[in-house]
Amino acid sequence: MNEMNLSKRLEVVASFIPEKSVMADIGSDHAYLPCFSILQGKAKAAIAGEITAGPYESARNQVIKNELTNVISVRLGDGLSVIEEGEQVDCITIAGMGGGLIKKILEDGMLKLTTVDRLILQPNIHAIHIREWLVNNNWELIDEEIIEEDNKIYEVLVAEKGDSNKSYKDVSFQTGLLLGPILMKKKSDVFKKKWLQECTHWKEIINQLENSGYTYNNNEKYRELFEKIKLVEEVLES
Ligand code: SAM
Repeated sequence: MNEMNLSKRLEVVASFIPEKSVMADIGSDHAYLPCFSILQGKAKAAIAGEITAGPYESARNQVIKNELTNVISVRLGDGLSVIEEGEQVDCITIAGMGGGLIKKILEDGMLKLTTVDRLILQPNIHAIHIREWLVNNNWELIDEEIIEEDNKIYEVLVAEKGDSNKSYKDVSFQTGLLLGPILMKKKSDVFKKKWLQECTHWKEIINQLENSGYTYNNNEKYRELFEKIKLVEEVLES
């Protein structure tokens, strides 16, 4: 992977960046995504934010190597704090982290979201935390993708400000939060593979709980897994 040739995962993220936008890529590491987006003529300017010194230096070097210092500003800092107050940013990308951390970055940086039109979020796990945050903060899911690369499955969530309940209007809300209201309608082969794998894993845990003497009636973890399996199997079998 490099700034000209992204991984499939980051290519999907890049495909949702609106033309001519000013983007901020948070947790940018090598700054491949902002460099690619500028070189492809998608974004017109970018901020690459990084909290860790090593990746920050890699990002800086990448931007210098591509002679993009006039359009990409590389900044060291936590989450959205790298965006200055009043600075115009149209689109934020946060990729390659857990859903809990992405949610925390959005929550901590709420004040920096006022000018932002689109969020493109790619959690490695626990996308449910992001969907819950979007619903509670009036962001509407406008698209979702699920892809497989190197035997790993990734979800990409795209949101814009709006009626956050709209995306859930023809699906069960709880199931939509877990599986993705758009992904469960698309029901791709990768989606089915992911949730079959999850169900198998949950059933193994239930077996272990049963062997330790726990049941639906006396153990909350057992009940939670059992309910999730039911929700998922209903969608997979429909
Ligand atoms: N976004 C790139 C991608 O998807 O390939 C890099 C993903 S890398 C696994 C996660 C990066 O996020 C690391 O470089 C880490 O230092 C950075 N990071 C983690 N927490 C952060 C935060 N709160 N603010 C900014 N960067 C953060």
